[in-house]
Amino acid sequence: PDYRAATFLTSAGKVSQCPEDSGWEVAFAGRSNAGKSSAINSLTANKKLARTSKTPGRTQLINFFELSENQRLVDLPGYGFAKVPLAVKREWTRQLENYLQTRESLRGLVLLMDVRHPLQEFDRQMLGWAIAADMPVHILLTKADKLKNGPAGNTLLQVRKQTRDYGDRVSVQLFSALKHTGHKELIAVLDAWLMD
Ligand code: GDP
Repeated sequence: PDYRAATFLTSAGKVSQCPEDSGWEVAFAGRSNAGKSSAINSLTANKKLARTSKTPGRTQLINFFELSENQRLVDLPGYGFAKVPLAVKREWTRQLENYLQTRESLRGLVLLMDVRHPLQEFDRQMLGWAIAADMPVHILLTKADKLKNGPAGNTLLQVRKQTRDYGDRVSVQLFSALKHTGHKELIAVLDAWLMD
């Protein structure tokens, strides 16, 4: 698909409000501030598509972007939920798990983590749910430009090692929206998942 053709389709406050479950979609998830909006904006070459959040954890909506009639990108709510009440946090956790487990058109999950803080508690939870739902996961170690090549490469190897038990269901790469690092690698994964 042409990722630059992405247009906003709709927002869902909960799984029951998602658009028709047909065709193919790929979802993006990450803790607040992981660089998810920047990655989606950079992938689609659209600075305004996924608003770069200045208030972590505020947008608790699943946003759908259409690439073609039957291909979609999905922006899942940034988790971390800095200042969100516990009850809201729990409800969103439930919705995320529900979406991952029930969405038929979902082909894979792109899980974004700041390269300096990979595999936090919630990342592990998302990984667990995705694997339980038989969903492949592609991990983006974001803001790779914040580290020198050596340390970034070490983190990449370390995360690969820590996810080795999942076999080829999990892949890992370095990514920088700022320096446009890892774009081709990401697009190859998305293309394969969104292929009919
Ligand atoms: P989100 O909350 O996951 O959507 O994160 P954002 O995309 O809003 O990014 C959070 C912060 O990290 C912002 O200040 C971005 O400018 C910064 N950021 C995102 N991607 C990169 C990157 O590739 N390199 C650097 N240096 N900063 C980034």
